[in-house]
Amino acid sequence: MPAPRLLIAFAAAFAAHAAHAERPLACTDFNAHVNGAWEAATPLAPDRARIGSFDQLRQANDRLLGAALAELAAEPARQTSPGLQRLAAFYRSGIDEAAIERRGLASLQPLLERAGAVTREGLPALLGELARIGPDLPLRPGVGFDLNDSTRHRINIGAGGLGLPDRDDYTRSDAASQRLREGYRAYAKRLMAAAGTPLAEPALEALIALEAQLAAAHFTPVQRRNPQAVNNGRTLASLAAEAPGFDWKAWLTAYAGTTTPASFNLSQPEVAKALARLARDAPIEAWRDYLRLRLLDRYAPTLPAAFEQAHFDFRSGLVRGLKAQPTRAERVIATIGGPNGSAPLGEALGELYVGKAYSPQAQQRALQMVADIRLAMQRRIDALPWMSAPTKAAAQAKLAAMVAQIGAPAQWRRYEGLVIDPADYVGNVIRSERWWTQQRLAELPQPVDRTRWNTSANTVNAFAAGGNRIVFPAGILQPPFFDEMADDASNYGGIGMVIGHEITHHFDDRGRQFDAVGNLRDWWAPEDAAAYKARAEQVAQLYGRYEPLPGVRINGHQMLGENISDFGGLRIAFDGLQIALERRRAAGETIPLVDGQTPEQRFFTANAIIWRGKMREEALLNQLRTGSHSPGRYRVLGPISNMPAFAQAFGCRPGDPMAATEPIVIW
Ligand SMILES: [Zn+2]
Repeated sequence: MPAPRLLIAFAAAFAAHAAHAERPLACTDFNAHVNGAWEAATPLAPDRARIGSFDQLRQANDRLLGAALAELAAEPARQTSPGLQRLAAFYRSGIDEAAIERRGLASLQPLLERAGAVTREGLPALLGELARIGPDLPLRPGVGFDLNDSTRHRINIGAGGLGLPDRDDYTRSDAASQRLREGYRAYAKRLMAAAGTPLAEPALEALIALEAQLAAAHFTPVQRRNPQAVNNGRTLASLAAEAPGFDWKAWLTAYAGTTTPASFNLSQPEVAKALARLARDAPIEAWRDYLRLRLLDRYAPTLPAAFEQAHFDFRSGLVRGLKAQPTRAERVIATIGGPNGSAPLGEALGELYVGKAYSPQAQQRALQMVADIRLAMQRRIDALPWMSAPTKAAAQAKLAAMVAQIGAPAQWRRYEGLVIDPADYVGNVIRSERWWTQQRLAELPQPVDRTRWNTSANTVNAFAAGGNRIVFPAGILQPPFFDEMADDASNYGGIGMVIGHEITHHFDDRGRQFDAVGNLRDWWAPEDAAAYKARAEQVAQLYGRYEPLPGVRINGHQMLGENISDFGGLRIAFDGLQIALERRRAAGETIPLVDGQTPEQRFFTANAIIWRGKMREEALLNQLRTGSHSPGRYRVLGPISNMPAFAQAFGCRPGDPMAATEPIVIW
């Protein structure tokens, strides 16, 4: 349970402190020094899995959006664009719970019936057709960049379709995994019973067996990070030879229609083989149940309460430890926006948000920070002791070509042809998914537009995107990350470090394999690549020693890209701050202490503040098993303890826990 665990973590932190009683807490545990009082004083509400700077800003943005959506829906005069009109109707359909109850499964029923009646011969075409909308299926095609030529689009076929969060959840023997499996079985039974097609025990066994065989074919999270391993060009003919017995043409045509391409990318060939084998050998009844369950699982949050509550109890309660649902408005916003604002109507949410909470001044200051931090990276590359001149030149070309997207798109999408019905919530989700797929398929023959946004402007996150881009939505250009009125030190320690992190992603162990335009192409001299890998391995080893839960360590290779980006990001943000301060001094300004701290001290304090957080044990375990980010505490401790500038700012001595005797440096 979370509360006692936190107390244990505190006791450990204080015991560590006692062992270094003569040393300041800043030098023994900087996270406890900055965030200890906040952690002790901040409760984790029943409807949260996590609380911290990111989460608090998300909640604040959602409150702002919730009020703006209610206003928008009530006053048609405010619906001044195609996006805002559709947003108002979508919101009305989601907020009216009585209407959702009355409508029941009506909009989903035709799909459920087709899934329930599918024949073995009809299975490939139905799987292809369902891939045009949202259920999580074994193979998930989508239109994206061609990894080998980022000016072109390509169909990338991803893998999925597992009801449990991780492939190994089907086979692990620990108590938490057994609880997950039991919970998933109960969840499947609840959804199917609520839909009027109850699952008997033998049918449930067959369904789980089908998923377990798919799971066995899946890559691990570490394997998925290898861009070479997921870059597998295929044609229909080569796929038919590799994974025989499945009508691949029927499958792909049902998905792509007249735009069906001659070749495509298959990220996990083993999953395609497993799908072909299971489509031939597994009982057809198991497939029918499986597809019904995938549809119900996907759309449960937009269905009557019996479905939504079952979904919450498993996916939020058991998997992430929540005790209560967030507000209705927050849930509707999450549905409209999708994960990281990537859903079809996410951009319209961003349009509404930007009208309320973003200014041209913020944009200007953020642009200056990106320029300073990019210059810092340029100087670091020049000074690297382990990289040869030709590789440095290629790295500089890549850095110079990096495209920054800040705030929001220059133009809002017009949503032509998308019908949103104010009385049909689940229907709106399905229609917008289908519309989106059609839009993306229409772009397949077009050249890639690198100015395109793939996330909504209200998102509290930042991205290193394909095509050598970095993206900072207006939603994260807010306190405590960024404040246009604040001093440089707090902004560079906050959003500045996030900017540095995203820049470094294009030079992390995965990102470094892509070139200046985002093609998967090796631009490294072999000895430079070897020197890089040796340093990256030190980072993996360091994090592999951290143990966030008893007996569960960080997987240093699974989290490697994020951790390398934290290491590099903090250093170039710090250097960027020095560039900003020099500019002010050159203009005759004096840099005052703020709250009694030097700019350098404030920089590190601001950084520890953005990573502070507390998390439920279930959510933490899920993140350690399936995620790519280390828990916030280690995002503070790892990079900072390897930065001599920190030791200097706080008077720490070599050998203090926060001052590594041999700091790890990559960038
Ligand atoms: Zn990252």
